Amino acid sequence: GCATEDVIAALRRVNEVIAEHRDELVDLDREIGDGDHGENMRRGFEAVMSKLDMSELDTPGAVLKLTATTLISTVGGAAGPLYGTAFLRAANAVGAATELSAGEVAAALRAACEGVVARGKAEIGDKTMVDALQPAVRAAETAMADAAALSAASAGGSTSAGGDGVPAVLAAAADAAEVGAESTVPLVARKGRASYLGERSAGHLDPGARSAALLLRALADAAR
Ligand code: ADP
Ligand code: MG
Ligand code: MG
Repeated sequence: GCATEDVIAALRRVNEVIAEHRDELVDLDREIGDGDHGENMRRGFEAVMSKLDMSELDTPGAVLKLTATTLISTVGGAAGPLYGTAFLRAANAVGAATELSAGEVAAALRAACEGVVARGKAEIGDKTMVDALQPAVRAAETAMADAAALSAASAGGSTSAGGDGVPAVLAAAADAAEVGAESTVPLVARKGRASYLGERSAGHLDPGARSAALLLRALADAAR
């Protein structure tokens, strides 16, 4: 399972990965936006780390909620409220559980993605972070179902194939998010600043889809 300290460690990894890719995200956003996405995200996750270092939190949900409120108040732009909503919905989905199962992680991912869609009204194919997040949710749920089938088939119902299943669920989500992010390249943006470019937005990777894929990859790496 995924305990409070595991969630904090995973967010520490997210902060590192976002900082490492800050310039890449700036460059992507310069091509079809206003060039602030990398710095917005770097500043936001840096603030999350400071907040987490100053706080005593005893559930994964509390960590996710503090992450949400910090991102909302520090990231800005379109991505701040969207990622903030994602983490807030994930926090609400896991409730007061002290350790998250693979099923709870998959449910949190679904809630996060649904929060982004509710807030931003983007559909798949609109060239946004939803193009990374939605396939990630489906892949996570498929990985969950596969793990459940495997454990049902094995004697005694042990989950020998994937430990507690959390690493497998997050790895599947990260793989799908990367494919989903790449799929934004040929698309014409229909939401966010990039949509102001119309047809000229085609031929560029969406920065928010890229940051969503990076975030999920960091979570998956931390869970291994
Ligand atoms: P801004 O465009 O306000 O400067 P950012 O640069 O931080 O904000 O984030 C831009 C990213 O936000 C886009 O690349 C896209 O993935 C995402 N985005 C923008 N609008 C929406 C929306 N309505 N729904 C989902 N994602 C969106
Ligand atoms: Mg921007
Ligand atoms: Mg901006």
